Amino acid sequence: MKLESNGILIGLRPFNERDAIARVFSRGYGVLVGVMRGAVVAKKNRPLLGQVGQMSWNARLDSQLGTFHWEADKNLAAPLMMSHARLAAMNAAFELLNTLLPEREAYDALYDKTLWLMGALGDDVNGAYLEWETDLLRELGYALDLSHCSGCGKTNDLHFLSPRTGRAVCVDCAAPYVNRLYKLPLSIGITLRFIEGVCAQQGVAVPVMRQMLNMVEYYSYLFLALFVKFAMVSTFNKEGENHDLDNFDTGTGYRAVYVWWHDVKA
Ligand SMILES: [Zn+2]
Repeated sequence: MKLESNGILIGLRPFNERDAIARVFSRGYGVLVGVMRGAVVAKKNRPLLGQVGQMSWNARLDSQLGTFHWEADKNLAAPLMMSHARLAAMNAAFELLNTLLPEREAYDALYDKTLWLMGALGDDVNGAYLEWETDLLRELGYALDLSHCSGCGKTNDLHFLSPRTGRAVCVDCAAPYVNRLYKLPLSIGITLRFIEGVCAQQGVAVPVMRQMLNMVEYYSYLFLALFVKFAMVSTFNKEGENHDLDNFDTGTGYRAVYVWWHDVKA
């Protein structure tokens, strides 16, 4: 079987010394998984997360891990590299797509929205990310409805959201249950609760990058950078491995913080 389309490179991890296992979110076929030969050692045209390009995916059998041929048109992640918050938002979005979307099922509206997100991560990172994540939830069958009160139908004074139905509740209707409702406006803290629900239903863990996104919201870049470095040193040195700590990608840094935090809590 051979599939050809354009797509976004949303996952890449080394498979052996030369090759990587890649995940491409494609138009028409959704998430495809396969081997990218030579991706680890490529000197030029090296596949990178956030690239948009042309892919062809080959598998001799339906059940086989496919092989990609990848030709990048441009790297949408490049303009995001200078901003920690923008990069964190992109990584969180990619990890959610990797974790929650089934393979080889088309999600073209979400594909377009993801392309949009990477261009829209400007000054209002949270606003753009929130819009994308609300769309993701809708695509997965958890639409949030903030247009009118689920109790009486009115469209003003909508200050609460029901965790159970994902629908808005006006001040009057909310009065008896205020403690059980989320307070609007919508935030990435609230959508995280719904993401947790989806993950629980699918039996998967909430991606670390998504959990960390709420942290990025609260701490400044400088503080976070120092903190990530500290957590990386304490986590990896304890494991007795000799890592080059200056050459870590953001994801590894976040995972280190996560491991460190779990150690501290335990
Ligand atoms: Zn009402």
